[in-house]
Amino acid sequence: MMRRALTLATALLLAAASAATSGAGASADHVPLLLRPAGVFDGVDGKVHAGWQVLVRGERIVAVGPDLSAPADARIVDLAGDTLMPGMIEGHGHLFLHPYDEASWDDQVLHEPLALRTARAVAHARATLRAGFTSARDLGTEGAGYADVGLKQAIDQGIVEGPRLSVATRAIVALGAYGPKGFEPGVAIPQGAEEVSGVEQMAAAVRRQIAAGADWIKLYADYRWRAGEDSRPTLSLEEIRAAVAAAHDAGRPVAVHASTPEGMRRAIEAGVDTIEHGYGGTTSIFASMAAKRITLCPTLAAADASARYRGWAGDEPAPPAVRAARESFRRARAAGVPICMGGDVGVYAHGSNAREMALMAAAGMTPAEVLVAATSGNARWMRVGDRLGAVRPGMLADLVALSGDPTVDLAALRSVRLVMKNGTIVAP
Ligand SMILES: [Zn+2]
Repeated sequence: MMRRALTLATALLLAAASAATSGAGASADHVPLLLRPAGVFDGVDGKVHAGWQVLVRGERIVAVGPDLSAPADARIVDLAGDTLMPGMIEGHGHLFLHPYDEASWDDQVLHEPLALRTARAVAHARATLRAGFTSARDLGTEGAGYADVGLKQAIDQGIVEGPRLSVATRAIVALGAYGPKGFEPGVAIPQGAEEVSGVEQMAAAVRRQIAAGADWIKLYADYRWRAGEDSRPTLSLEEIRAAVAAAHDAGRPVAVHASTPEGMRRAIEAGVDTIEHGYGGTTSIFASMAAKRITLCPTLAAADASARYRGWAGDEPAPPAVRAARESFRRARAAGVPICMGGDVGVYAHGSNAREMALMAAAGMTPAEVLVAATSGNARWMRVGDRLGAVRPGMLADLVALSGDPTVDLAALRSVRLVMKNGTIVAP
């Protein structure tokens, strides 16, 4: 143990020295690193390959397999007892939110200054990376404007630590359909997303957000029109179509919050790329999603966390909202819908992103299927599968070492021993 700790400490010191001399975020240390774990989970085939090693040079993986012949100048990173896997990808998060049992969503949007929210987001980004999530799709700042674009730049420039981000900026909602709500109608209340009404305003909002830095466009196809109500459709089919046309023209995919059958039906018909939540999805709706290869982000952890904030202690039978989330997840899988690993983290604590993975396993996936979803699966539908999500030569060296074997027990996700992003060791 001591020798191993020293080896790791040495590697970290070398990485730190390299970062200090090479400037903003670059991994310009081109001394090759030979990582020697107990086994490698490559993110694709669902197996742990005992005895495999990984050679990293610069920001890329250059060789993977048993008995690699290391170059004479390679530094050895001894990871005995650990499983090495691709850096995980969070599919649905909100770095500008923190758990609702700390402050309600309304209070976060209305009472927390932008600088406070941004400072929190910096800490959240660091916690995410150190939990082994080297990439993340952030689906809206919820009232924090375009601050996600600046945070992404700060991470890319090496000013702060965090995952490689795809951001959605403000998100887009139907006029009057979102929140915060319940105030004197004559007073303008800041909203958690950009409001539109009609196809022209929709196209303008999409274009404005893309110009400001949006990598994804996020829409709300349904929502609670008044607090305490069930969700009902908000954006029309024509409005969603206008958003998809403007976004796809610019090469940006579209993510849609939808939990009602009608909201989902409109999103599918309009040709969106991912549907978030989908709690009310029926067998026929999931069949049409599967036919169009639209990905579902089931956000089981958001339903679980929200129920706990309302007093659920985790006993069975679970509350109806939790059961609905599990059942829609099972229906979607049975229909062959591509499944995202994305839990709506921010509703619960950043850094505990693996909570969604545990719930996916509890709802019927094998641990290996969950791990593939969080790596090569998410990389595929996020359109980065050519460089992320797999331990293969030529891929970016985003790697995580876990104590133990996560294909046996996902609890290993809580024992992160090493995180590497772009070939640089960022965390023990
Ligand atoms: Zn969300």
